[in-house]
Amino acid sequence: MSKSTLVIVDPATPLPPGTPEHAGRLRLADPDQPQVLVSDLGVTRGDGIFETFGVVGGDIQAMEPHLRRLLNSAVLLDLPELDLEALERAVRLAVAEHPDDELLVKLIVTRGVEGTGRPTAWAYGFIGEDYSPRRLDGIAVVTLDRGYRHDIAQTSPWLLQGAKTLSYAVNKAVLREAARRGAEDVIFLSTDGYVLEGPSSTVIIRTGDTFVTPRTDQGILEGTTQHALFGIVTDLGYTADYRYLRSEELTSADGLWLVSSGQQIAPIISLDGQQIPHDPELTQTLLKRLQSRDS
Ligand code: PLP
Repeated sequence: MSKSTLVIVDPATPLPPGTPEHAGRLRLADPDQPQVLVSDLGVTRGDGIFETFGVVGGDIQAMEPHLRRLLNSAVLLDLPELDLEALERAVRLAVAEHPDDELLVKLIVTRGVEGTGRPTAWAYGFIGEDYSPRRLDGIAVVTLDRGYRHDIAQTSPWLLQGAKTLSYAVNKAVLREAARRGAEDVIFLSTDGYVLEGPSSTVIIRTGDTFVTPRTDQGILEGTTQHALFGIVTDLGYTADYRYLRSEELTSADGLWLVSSGQQIAPIISLDGQQIPHDPELTQTLLKRLQSRDS
C-alpha cells in the first residue's frame, strides 16, 4: 500500500450546501501517478497557495486556523472564491484514507491551468521527516537578511509577503546557505534589524516568564503552532506577547524555539555560532502538550 494519499478537489465557487454536485467534487487519486497538467500555473509560475496540516493520533491540528490562513492567502493573490468546505473535506478524506496516525497533509491550491480561470487543488497526506533529533537535541540556526524592511507588507503589498504562496524556492535556498554555515535552520531578519520568521516556522523567544513572538504585521505568517503554543504557555502560568523584536534580543534570550505544524517545536541551541540557553525539560513539556492538543 502506498504510504501517501491524494484527494483531488474542485475548489471553485461554493455551491449551496447539500447539493449532489457538492459531494462529487472530491475524488481519490493515485499519488504515484502524474496528476497535474504541465501548463498548470502552480507548476509553471509557482502561482498558488498551500497549507501543511499536522495530524497526530488521527486528529487534524488547527483545521480552522489553517483554513483561515489559506483564505487570507487566496485574497492576497486575487484567486477566485474558494469552496473552503470542499477543501476541508478533502483534507479529512486524505487523513481518513491514510494508514498511519502521525502524518502531514499538504493542501495545495493553484491558479489552475493557464487560460481556464479555474483553480486546481489537492490534498496530499504523507509521512513527514523524522523530527525527533531536532526536537530532542535542538538545532543550530543562523540569522539571514531577508532584504526587506519590517514594514514591507504596508509599503509593497504586491510582494505578497504574509501570503503562504507556492514560491518557496527562496525558503529552501536559505537552508542550503545555513548548511554552508554549519547550521540547520534560519531566522530571517528585516534590513532594519527586526526578527521576522523562519523559512517554514515561527520564532519564539522566552525572556524570564514571558514568551514573545514577532508581530505579524511585518509581512510574516500568523503561525498556527505558535497560536496553540501561546495557549499552552499561558496555561502553564507564563505571559505571552506579540511585539516587534530587535535582532539583539535573540542572543540575550533565556530560550529560543522554532515552531511549525510539521516539527511542532525545535529548541535553538546556537545562533550564529553563539550558544543559547536550553531547558530540555520545558521543551519536552511544550512538545507533549502540542502533540496532544485536540484542535
Ligand atoms: N512561517 C512560514 C514562512 C511558514 O512556512 C510556516 C509553516 O510552514 C510557519 C511560519 C509556521 O506556521 P504553522 O505553525 O502554521 O505551520
